[in-house]
Amino acid sequence: MELLIEKIKNEGIVLSSSVLKVDSFLNHQVDPQLMLEIGKEFAERFAHCGITKILTIESSGIAPAVMTGLQLNVPVVFARKRKSLTLVNNLITASVYSFTKEETSEISVSNQYISENDKVLIIDDFLANGRASLGLADIASKAKASIAGIGIVIEKGFQDGGSLLRDKGYRVESLAIIDSLNDGLVSFEQQTTETKVELTR
Ligand code: 5GP
Repeated sequence: MELLIEKIKNEGIVLSSSVLKVDSFLNHQVDPQLMLEIGKEFAERFAHCGITKILTIESSGIAPAVMTGLQLNVPVVFARKRKSLTLVNNLITASVYSFTKEETSEISVSNQYISENDKVLIIDDFLANGRASLGLADIASKAKASIAGIGIVIEKGFQDGGSLLRDKGYRVESLAIIDSLNDGLVSFEQQTTETKVELTR
């Protein structure tokens, strides 16, 4: 998706050879216009799949997921990462190892909001090693829902998640695929573009 790739080129900050920071439009501040275009793109790619629900994970999956839900006219459910006093009964849970936090946590969704009648589209902001998407797929499977596919805003193609999910038979649609973050550069497929390198003290 050209608009997204331009945004990453202009505003993405390479934190290391494996981590890209996009806080200015996705992970902290959110660009609503870009999210709307992302929602339209996912909706187009997964049109006519009979999707009844979008499933994502808090917090950065919510913005693109809501815009996709808006376009497909279906509800959006986000898995909670933290325990909540109001989310106690009938939970469907899965364990997820977090790429950025480097710890395993339990994610949960109430069984009120996902059922065997659902055809789910999983949405997430980044795809690295595929743990978050697999956790969401696990929750959908435990609810006996079917999975139409997985929509990813930014896939890091040099990490294992993409092949892991595709080998398991999931349809994965990524709007931008990064080939490498080496030497402070973001490269998309054949093209290499210099981005700012954040200096850490
Ligand atoms: P995975 O579960 O596929 O290993 O990692 C995906 C999750 O980790 C995403 O939900 C995202 O929050 C986070 N993540 C992975 N890589 C990056 C990255 O390079 N930048 C940011 N901002 N988040 C990432």
